[in-house]
Amino acid sequence: MASYLLSCECGKTVPVDVGQAGGTAVCDCGKHLEVPTLRQLRHLPKSEAPPTAGRPAKPWDARHGLVAAGSIGMIALLAWSGYVWWFEPKMQKFDLAARLKTVEEEIQTPAGAWKAWVEFYRPMAEKGIPEFRMMNADQIDRAIAQSRFVRFTLWALAFLCGFIALCGTLWPKQAR
Ligand SMILES: [Zn+2]
Repeated sequence: MASYLLSCECGKTVPVDVGQAGGTAVCDCGKHLEVPTLRQLRHLPKSEAPPTAGRPAKPWDARHGLVAAGSIGMIALLAWSGYVWWFEPKMQKFDLAARLKTVEEEIQTPAGAWKAWVEFYRPMAEKGIPEFRMMNADQIDRAIAQSRFVRFTLWALAFLCGFIALCGTLWPKQAR
């Protein structure tokens, strides 16, 4: 497509194409230039180079790609870590009365009775109530430790994504 050279006050020229007629173009100096209408455009000197609207497209795309990917990654990882945090088991006091109540409800069906035996009565019979309580606490402790490790890893990855996005914003603009 034919492109025309629009001259700016700073002395540079900005290649514009007919599709930009009547619109604006941005010069390297940052000034927004009014592109003449189609009829007036034809009086401007022609350019051999393809129109770039004043700025090279490639580095712009790479930078914005980095920023977008980094930001999206960071938000996704933070959301994930929030999700993990939300479902993290909370250390609670072992309530034997409450446990017995749920076990009694389970016993109503044969499958529930078997489950109650395996999960509750047998360990309690083998180890006694204090030991059983400890075992339960150990399990919750381990689950919390695991969940914290996952959260920490997600935070570290989110930090890395944020850093990538920051690199994208600091990426030097191509000098011409
Ligand atoms: Zn200029």
